[in-house]
Amino acid sequence: MKPALTLYLAAPRGFCAGVDRAIKIVEMALSKWGAPVYVRHEIVHNKFVVDSLRAKGAVFVEELSDCPDDRPVIFSAHGVPKSVPAEASRRNMIWVDATCPLVSKVHIEAERHFEDGLQMVMIGHAGHPEVLGTMGQLPAGEVLLVETVADVAHLSPRDPERLAFITQTTLSVDDTAGVVAALKARFPAITGPAKEDICYATTNRQAAVKAIAPKIDALLVIGAPNSSNSRRLVEVGSAAGCAVSHLVGRASEIDWAALGEARAVGVTAGASAPEVLVDEVIAAFRDRYEVTVELVETAREDIEFKVPRILREPV
Ligand code: SF4
Repeated sequence: MKPALTLYLAAPRGFCAGVDRAIKIVEMALSKWGAPVYVRHEIVHNKFVVDSLRAKGAVFVEELSDCPDDRPVIFSAHGVPKSVPAEASRRNMIWVDATCPLVSKVHIEAERHFEDGLQMVMIGHAGHPEVLGTMGQLPAGEVLLVETVADVAHLSPRDPERLAFITQTTLSVDDTAGVVAALKARFPAITGPAKEDICYATTNRQAAVKAIAPKIDALLVIGAPNSSNSRRLVEVGSAAGCAVSHLVGRASEIDWAALGEARAVGVTAGASAPEVLVDEVIAAFRDRYEVTVELVETAREDIEFKVPRILREPV
């Protein structure tokens, strides 16, 4: 007789509109131009997605210099520094930008502040491709990076009266509010977006985790270790009181011993994790427990982003 266990399934979870679009862009590029199509960086942060596109003929590279001139190249959903498409154009390459429109929106915001003569503070994680892409929209020194409230004290802007802030799209809503408050306290003249630049998908997935947290003993977030929004979901789970809040790439990574006597487990998935991995996790629980699944839906999403025109035109 298997023990009873309730799985609380967070909704929304998994793929967002930006990830959906980026995957569609690679698939459409493969059917338009044939294989191989080059992709600079992981198109989205998920090994399962990357492996399945690789099997269809996508070649993932780190730098544009790793691509031949005569094959199309796609830039990932996280965005790229301006120098990258400029170099692709200089080499007369066919290139398609899969940058999520919500990341492009932050790029435009940054450009606007720059044109207004403001230096920027970006709240984000050092080394994340989105941060490199956004900072790379402007000349070096125009965007200063902070990760935490403590970093704010060490900022030395050119002119404290001429500052704006922007944020990475996949941060913790609560932590970012703290950093924004610290920036406003130290630089009262700082301007920024009405809220922050955290995207709807990140916000909704975090809200869903907060809603299931009081019902569960443990939380599993399906996502990749380099996926910022997935890691934030783990942190949100811990902050909301889940003693066990783990990131798992797929079912085989579940630490069953750590779940112990847990009989109410929350499951969610980061914005780059496909639903098939959620199904796999549920099946793994069914192998060990008598499972009841309860959906906890805190929002509905119907956002869709168009693919770039070049893919909608005939060859
Ligand atoms: Fe776009 Fe947000 Fe998805 Fe990133 S997580 S691809 S910003 S919708």
